Amino acid sequence: MTGFEMICEKCEELLQPYLDRELDDSERHEAESHLADCGYCKKRYRFEESLRRYVRSACAEEMSPELKARLAALRTPLT
Ligand SMILES: [Zn+2]
Repeated sequence: MTGFEMICEKCEELLQPYLDRELDDSERHEAESHLADCGYCKKRYRFEESLRRYVRSACAEEMSPELKARLAALRTPLT
């Protein structure tokens, strides 16, 4: 134990597109197998994922009821 955490280069290379679901099947597989045995990326992944979840829910909450009602009114009724 050095007390310092090794920064993993794969992290930036694979993790961001993996989180954004921009990878094809083989790249995703590579990212997943890397995540399985890289402690740094695993931690980063968990952090980034919860961050994204938080941002998403914050955005959803930002939409006021008035705006939601306006958006709903814009939708053309099917009947
Ligand atoms: Zn890694």
